[in-house]
Amino acid sequence: MTATVGAAGPKDCRVSRVETYLVGTRWRNFVFVRVETDDGIHGVGEGTLEWQAKAVEASVFDLARRHVIGRSAFQIERMWQDMFRNEFARGGPVVNSAIGAIEMALWDIVGKAVGRPVYDLLGGRCHERIPAYANAWYGAGADIGAVAEAAAAVAAKGYRGLKFDPFGSSGRDPERREIARAVDMVAAVREAVGEEMEILLDCHGRFSPGSAIEIARLLEPSRIYWFEEPCDPENVGALAKIGRSIKTRLATGERCYTKYHLQALLASGEVSVLQPDIIHVGGILEAKKMAAMADAIYIPVSFHNPFGPVATAAAIQLDACTTNIVMQESFCEYDVPWRFDLLENCPRPVNGGYEIPTRPGLGVDLNLDAVRAHPYDEDAYLPMWGDDWAKRF
Ligand SMILES: [Mg+2]
Repeated sequence: MTATVGAAGPKDCRVSRVETYLVGTRWRNFVFVRVETDDGIHGVGEGTLEWQAKAVEASVFDLARRHVIGRSAFQIERMWQDMFRNEFARGGPVVNSAIGAIEMALWDIVGKAVGRPVYDLLGGRCHERIPAYANAWYGAGADIGAVAEAAAAVAAKGYRGLKFDPFGSSGRDPERREIARAVDMVAAVREAVGEEMEILLDCHGRFSPGSAIEIARLLEPSRIYWFEEPCDPENVGALAKIGRSIKTRLATGERCYTKYHLQALLASGEVSVLQPDIIHVGGILEAKKMAAMADAIYIPVSFHNPFGPVATAAAIQLDACTTNIVMQESFCEYDVPWRFDLLENCPRPVNGGYEIPTRPGLGVDLNLDAVRAHPYDEDAYLPMWGDDWAKRF
């Protein structure tokens, strides 16, 4: 038997060029990559990392030169292994995010080459629509009444949930008045959004285990869906102590960069929702593997997604082909208004969720005029332990 292909043969899509674009927003710089191939197909990816845009950009060029230029875009797994293992000082968020940006663009290229969306290459679509939760809606800052009013407006848009950090500039062990204020703010939000809406709280790793456990208990009357990063995530024993001491679901994962760390995190059995960041774990396929690790202990994933629109497009592709998703984080409607100009077919929530696109690859492309209109901003930073940081949203 002879296998035949079309007259021109299958496309090999050898990478010929990698470009980066940094886009300054109010509180972070987006890092976009554009990868060209000798077949004329190009792909886009995103490597945004909290406040290390220049470092990621430098890493993208190192990785591209050493491991990517000249190779077929179809060799994603092999190239990923080379970018991760051959760099030796591996597993950190800078190099991982550079890997993630390139990997995303490779999937975009492969999808375009075969004429299918990325989710069709990773198991196929298994949802009709992706439910979302809103974040970055609480720029009102300190005033409880204003935050409750903003929460009611989020609920009216149809999101399944909303997330916020009510703890202001609190440190490891807040004083009683700080705790009481946060508990009052959450109660006001619950009252404003009604009983159907899920409330998710992000602690950004700020507490000691003792304070975290007490605060989670004080919040129980407001029926919180998840309590996120109550303490810093490196020490899995400390997180596990909190997880087994509270009734609310423990959520974590955005600062868990590798499956090697993840297996230790999940081994405790105390994590109830896993939040891999598709960029920071090194891209779409690695995030898919992490979702499978979570599925092995019957817990859902909710992909961390506070960055730019290419990462959101990748998240929607991954959500579409992953059975154990719960809801997708969305900053879209509370980001800079020109976010939607940055891409052709920029993802946008409809009635609090995402439709699943059917275009090949990631289904988006950079609008380079709009991208160039918002250059790198060295002041795009969020001092999370200072006063009123949420006002930067
Ligand atoms: Mg978080």
